[in-house]
Amino acid sequence: MANSLMASGIVAQRLNAEELASNFSDLHPAYAPHEAAVAADRCYFCYDAPCTTACPTDIDIPMFIREIQTGNPEAAARTILEQNILGGMCARVCPTETLCEEVCVRETSEGKPVEIGRLQRFATDTLMAAGVHPFERAALTGKRVAVVGAGPAGLACAHRLAMLGHEVVIHEAKPKAGGLNNFGIAAYKSTDNFADREIEWLLQIGGITIETGKALGPDLSLDHLTSGFDAVFLSIGLAGVNALRLQGEDMKGMRDAVDFIEELRSSSDLSTLPVGRNVVVIGGGMTAVDAAVQSKLLGAENVTIAYRRGRDAMPASGFEQDLAAAKGVKLMFNVMPVALKGDGAVSAVELEYTSVIDGKVTGTGETIELPADQVFKAIGQTLRGAPDGLSLDGGKITVNEVGRTSKDMVWAGGDCASGGDDLTVTAVAEGRDAAMDIHAQLTS
Ligand SMILES: Cc1cc2nc3c(=O)[nH]c(=O)nc-3n(C[C@H](O)[C@H](O)[C@H](O)COP(=O)(O)OP(=O)(O)OC[C@H]3O[C@@H](n4cnc5c(N)ncnc54)[C@H](O)[C@@H]3O)c2cc1C
Ligand code: SF4
Repeated sequence: MANSLMASGIVAQRLNAEELASNFSDLHPAYAPHEAAVAADRCYFCYDAPCTTACPTDIDIPMFIREIQTGNPEAAARTILEQNILGGMCARVCPTETLCEEVCVRETSEGKPVEIGRLQRFATDTLMAAGVHPFERAALTGKRVAVVGAGPAGLACAHRLAMLGHEVVIHEAKPKAGGLNNFGIAAYKSTDNFADREIEWLLQIGGITIETGKALGPDLSLDHLTSGFDAVFLSIGLAGVNALRLQGEDMKGMRDAVDFIEELRSSSDLSTLPVGRNVVVIGGGMTAVDAAVQSKLLGAENVTIAYRRGRDAMPASGFEQDLAAAKGVKLMFNVMPVALKGDGAVSAVELEYTSVIDGKVTGTGETIELPADQVFKAIGQTLRGAPDGLSLDGGKITVNEVGRTSKDMVWAGGDCASGGDDLTVTAVAEGRDAAMDIHAQLTS
């Protein structure tokens, strides 16, 4: 039995088109207006609302919920978007269970929070469906800012600068803008081409040019940008990936989880995407969960996440862990990979059980072998392509609280910058705050 499973390899079309469409449909379907009204009614409109304090972009949550409750979702959207221009995407991808909804008074008193994320989506979707862009540009300042990287941090920075009257040119290495909104976020969180539609809507502000296929490094230098523009904002994300450092890492079937997810997000026909029968994902963050869940949704039979620490230490939230389990993914804790088996193509992963002593992961000597025709590595991403001469801190570009780097007139934000917690919403907050500081510098 085990041999025939291993021999089957990595193939496409494990499921038919109907099954795939159903598997990859919206994780949290949008509210109908009457559902939004009922959900909004549950809010206590707290004074000093803990939900707002927990939001990295400081959205006035009770205010926007009140606006929905009084039948004005477009005003609610404006309240959201003033703080978070990617409020539509954040409504879909924010781990609300560890942010606003975790501290919601309804959660702490009754165990059921106001569904803030879904209400935010209702408001922003309503406004976008009406084709409205609620902001206008201030009088032009004549200043030009270069942004490098068109992910959430770069887009948020560019929008705020354009709104304040500056001209912005975004230089993006890939052929398409969006960063991980387009190439990383799980397909069932951002359906119907939402990332592209949101960018199109955001650009309605005017004053932003996106030059794709332009990478800092091979195509242009930081010196070139600092001499050609009044300020530079770096938002290049984390393009490198950590290796397992085991023999056989280049065998067929071994793959970086982010590459697999990027291929999946770029695919126009999921039935053409090959997936293994026995998939093992090494790691414990959102990337590991997304790779595992999406493998399962593509039709992989046995999918296991192997994480080296205990459940409580897993970076993926309890909600993400439950989602994985509900989709049939097996979660193994306190195991680490010690050998990859196979001859040309991977056929099994040997895991060693671990214990954590004084915070350090230590092997116990006891091992287990899992059959695997596909192994995804999801053990963290690293900064790649940072310009020379910038100070680094823990492998990221050193920035202060408003994103200033060690180089004059160069700011950075999002995943590539020190601090923050590598979430879409944090990237948006950092892009916005750096834009405000750039504006202050350029107009002082
Ligand atoms: C698989 C995966 C799933 C995730 N799921 C979630 C989730 O559900 N919820 C959540 O909140 N967060 C999630 N995250 C994290 C979130 O996507 C990131 O924190 C966020 O995208 C960071 O935004 P950013 O703008 O800093 O970087 P990115 O989104 O990485 O964008 C960086 C941009 O810079 C470009 N670039 C890179 N190098 C250069 C260069 N040299 N020159 C020019 N351009 C360059 C890249 O092509 C890219 O477009 C996930 C991350 C991953 C990997
Ligand atoms: S904490 Fe909950 S109940 Fe209070 S304002 Fe925020 S969403 Fe409403």
